[in-house]
Amino acid sequence: MTTGRQHGAVDRARGTARRVFYLLKPLIPRRVQIALRRALVRAQRQRHLSVWPIDPTCDGRPDGWAGWPSGKRFALVLTHDVETAVGRERCLALQDVDRESGFRSSFNFVPADYDVPDELRARIVANGGEVGVHGLHHDGKLFSSWNAFREAAARINVYLAQWGAVGFRAPAMHHDLEWIRHLDIEYDASTFDTDPFEAQPDGVGVVFPFWVPPAEGREGYVELPYTLPQDFTLFTLMQERSIDVWAGKLDWLAARGGMALLDTHPDYMDFESGSPRLEEYPVRLYREFLSYVGHRYEGQYWNALPRDVARFWKQGVVGRPAHATAAAAGGNHGGRP
Ligand SMILES: [Zn+2]
Repeated sequence: MTTGRQHGAVDRARGTARRVFYLLKPLIPRRVQIALRRALVRAQRQRHLSVWPIDPTCDGRPDGWAGWPSGKRFALVLTHDVETAVGRERCLALQDVDRESGFRSSFNFVPADYDVPDELRARIVANGGEVGVHGLHHDGKLFSSWNAFREAAARINVYLAQWGAVGFRAPAMHHDLEWIRHLDIEYDASTFDTDPFEAQPDGVGVVFPFWVPPAEGREGYVELPYTLPQDFTLFTLMQERSIDVWAGKLDWLAARGGMALLDTHPDYMDFESGSPRLEEYPVRLYREFLSYVGHRYEGQYWNALPRDVARFWKQGVVGRPAHATAAAAGGNHGGRP
C-alpha cells in the first residue's frame, strides 16, 4: 500500500505537463484554447476508435453481482458540474428540464470560485435533487502536491459538512483514489470507464460502481465512474450535432446491465438564448437524450441520485464476506494500468 507522500512523488512527475498547461492557460484566449483542443481531439479520435466511446473490455460484472434494486435492468445517474457563476444561474432551469422528463439529478458546485447561495442549494434539494462539491477552485491544481491537496481537502471538508453533502467530483477529472480518502465523503465521481481525451486519461475499466476500501485510519468510499461521454467533449470539442454517440453507448450499457452515468454542464448549454457562446450547445440535445432513455427504456432503469447509488453499493459490499469484498474492491480498483 502506498502512502500519500509516495503517491506525491509519482503525481508530481506525471503532473508536470499538466502544470505547464495550466500555467500558460490564462495567457491563451479562450477562443484559441478551444480551437487548439478541437484540432487535438479531431486528431486523437480516429486513433482511439477501438476504446472510445465504447471500450469492449469494460463489460465485466462485479463478483457476486445480484442486480440493481427492484430488478431494474440498468442504473441511470444524471449529474451536472457547475463550472462558473454562468452555470449557477442556469441550475434551476436545468433541473426543470430533468424533472419535466421525470428524472432526478445532482449538481456539483465549486465553493471557492463563486457564491453558492443557501437558497439555491435548498431549492435543488427540495425539488428532489442532490448537491455535491466540485473541487475548491476550478484551476486544475488540486492534486499538484500532497501539501496543496491536504490544505484544500480540509477546506472542502468544511463545505461538505456545511452543505450536508456526501459526494465529490474533482475539476478536470483529476483523481488519486488514495488521496481522495482524505475527504469526508460517501462517494467520489472523478473517474470514468474510458475517456482518452481527459488530461489524466487512465480509465478505471468498469461500468459499475466500486468500493475503495478504508486505509490509514480513513474510511472507505464508493467510486462512481462516468460511463457516457461528457457534453463538453461531444458537442463543444467534437462539434457533434446529434445524440447518436450517447444513444449508442447507452444501448451498450443497458445490454450489459451497467451504470449509465452522465456528467453535463449548465455552463455549456444554450437555453434558447438566440446567441449561443462559442462553447455552448443547444439544450435541445440534452432533452433529446432524456426523451430517448425515457421512451426506449421505460420501466427498465433505476434513476437514482449518486448518493443513493453509493449507499446501495456500500450495503452490498458490507453485506458480503470480507474476502469477497477485498477481492471485488481490488479487482475493480486495479482496473487497467
Ligand atoms: Zn468541472
